Amino acid sequence: MTALQKNFIAGDWVDGSGITRDINPSNTNDVVGEYAKADKAQTEKAIAAAKGAFPAWSRSTPQERFDALNRISTEILARKEELGRLLAREEGKTLPEGIGEVARAGQIFAFFAGEALRLMGEKGASVRPGLEVEITREPVGVVGMITPWNFPIAIPAWKIAPALCYGNTVVFKPAELVPGSAHALSEIIARSGLPAGVFNLVVGSGSVVGQTLLEHPDVSAISFTGSVATGRKIAQACVLSNPMKKFQLEMGGKNPLVVLDDADLKVAVEVAVNGAYFSTGQRCTASSRLIVTSGIHDRFVAAMTERMKGLSVGDALKSGVHVGPVVDQSQLDQDLRYIKIGQDEGARLYWGGELLNRETPGFYLQPALFTEANNAMRIAREEIFGPVACVIRAKDYEEALAISNDTEFGLASGICTTSLKYASHYKRNSEAGMVMVNLPTAGVDYHVPFGGRKGSSYGAREQGSYAREFYTTVKTAYANPG
Ligand code: ADP
Repeated sequence: MTALQKNFIAGDWVDGSGITRDINPSNTNDVVGEYAKADKAQTEKAIAAAKGAFPAWSRSTPQERFDALNRISTEILARKEELGRLLAREEGKTLPEGIGEVARAGQIFAFFAGEALRLMGEKGASVRPGLEVEITREPVGVVGMITPWNFPIAIPAWKIAPALCYGNTVVFKPAELVPGSAHALSEIIARSGLPAGVFNLVVGSGSVVGQTLLEHPDVSAISFTGSVATGRKIAQACVLSNPMKKFQLEMGGKNPLVVLDDADLKVAVEVAVNGAYFSTGQRCTASSRLIVTSGIHDRFVAAMTERMKGLSVGDALKSGVHVGPVVDQSQLDQDLRYIKIGQDEGARLYWGGELLNRETPGFYLQPALFTEANNAMRIAREEIFGPVACVIRAKDYEEALAISNDTEFGLASGICTTSLKYASHYKRNSEAGMVMVNLPTAGVDYHVPFGGRKGSSYGAREQGSYAREFYTTVKTAYANPG
């Protein structure tokens, strides 16, 4: 058992006023670590530290920002196997998925190291004779980050890196289920040469630490990824706070994957299995609605089932495992509840969906495939966030597109087809922030924007150079040079 891991406030590692136990979902007897829980007063201290550090950091040079972000990137990448193992152990995605996520976090910091050197303004002539106009971007201030458990290092990275890059200071509140990756990332950030207070870690609950960030007048912006229900509360709190806060929300998805008659069946099955079940289906970009046209429907279902039989579900750290456990008991209960709802609604549980026993006690669930589902069913409308997908039959492309867009979400969508005509039409007409052709709905690049429409997202896009929209505020300056 390792020592109690502390919070990082104003440049010091400090004890909290409670303990969060980090449990391995592949083996609930395995305690990954114990983490000090911050309370309201400590969160306020972290906010004060971030506020105090802001004036100097907001005026730091691009070189200073580059150096810090580059050091963070270098250490993350050098330690990706070790950190990937920690991530897989605490979250339950497989070891290769864990290592891949850590590498992604390193790449994100490298990208924003470069971005720090590229921030430029604009200068133009005024419509009034002799005057000059300049447009520049300035940091927003103290940014609070509230993150979920499903990407314990990549999501914090894609919020923290741009925040620091553009001169903001940070108070980071990770999800309670995954303090280990957050703590490891914070240790790396703590030794990157940033002045005390620029970055702060406060592990704790949404209702205490999260709420304090939302209510505090010295927090200027909140970047949130999590559920729709919490997102709504965050939006309300940000608008009611005085002064109002800038906010950005990434929430759920009910992402469609359309499979057309002319699809390459092998490609379609790989894309669907990856999108629906990898990372245990616990990705906001997972494909949970497989909308399949009549001519390929039966062949697709048969090939999908064969492919699913070959998936090995087990301990996330074991080699050869394709699908790790569900993250915890309450998520498992939710997955099982939806499997029952689907059956009660009249969909056919075609394959999987049962609990599995493995050598160690863990939350093992056989990936589930429903057929004979329709788009009005709750399993087709509500986000389950587990390895559960349903096949919806469509008569042709037009109907498939209509079903695809008939959802209150709009994060990612995909189509499998060999037709350029349908691929192009779908890219233009799919009401989603990210559209994939012959690719899984989950799995994105880090140098381009990430985000959705409708009920999935609110506010500016994350990632790539588009991240500057959220992490900077625009200033328009006029001058009369005389
Ligand atoms: P998930 O189901 O992905 O855990 P949540 O929306 O419940 O989604 O949680 C995402 C993040 O939001 C977590 O860090 C959680 O602690 C935080 N959170 C939950 N409720 C609140 C709240 N009322 N105020 C602020 N943060 C919250």
